[in-house]
Amino acid sequence: MSGKTILLDPGHNSGNVNHTTEINRQVDIGNSSKECDTTGTETNAGYSEADYTLDVSRRARAILQSRGAKVVLTQDGDRAWGPCITERAQIGNQAHADAAISVHGDGAPASGNGFHVIMPAKVTAGKADNSAIVSPSHRLGLLLRQDFKAATGEPYANYIGEQGLDTRSDLGGLNLSTVPKVFIECGNMRNSVDAKRMTDPQWRQQAAQGIADALTAYLTTTATPDASAG
Ligand code: ZN
Repeated sequence: MSGKTILLDPGHNSGNVNHTTEINRQVDIGNSSKECDTTGTETNAGYSEADYTLDVSRRARAILQSRGAKVVLTQDGDRAWGPCITERAQIGNQAHADAAISVHGDGAPASGNGFHVIMPAKVTAGKADNSAIVSPSHRLGLLLRQDFKAATGEPYANYIGEQGLDTRSDLGGLNLSTVPKVFIECGNMRNSVDAKRMTDPQWRQQAAQGIADALTAYLTTTATPDASAG
């Protein structure tokens, strides 16, 4: 993947909890305003989403770099808080990333489990215009759904979305992106089965493998999985 640039966005920041004033500031995401960033969720045992997302992103970076890609992280545990969701989008745009993935874990009611991929709805409002990325992001999302499931064995979420896919217009990171981008909610950290997996470094390596494989397929092939594949 020499010559390819990939943006990985580890959701949240473990320092956000100590910087509530900064992260609660409202920022403009085009069609509305939203908090600059949030603290994210955690498992019942206290393993934080921010620690999860950074670890998986670093593991995916290592795989992608070994394949020759240039990888940019929005944060690498090297800043006290944030960045804001607006800046997370800008970093990918300014890097002219060929593809971007924002890594998250969900904090849903404990009864639900599974992963889902969030793709951008078309948003043209205020300073947001992501119309050029909707179609390529959809292809990236289908590949990510396929490759994440293959690498981890994680089922599609049974509490949200449709067969592991969701489309949203309320995420600044997608509204403001001018490069193909999707989010992945790797599991529900409040569910005991998912929490056990996400706390396991070996499972996180598999998660990173799925993310890296999807980006590799997106950037080196013209494959487009069947959207209805179950
Ligand atoms: Zn999150």
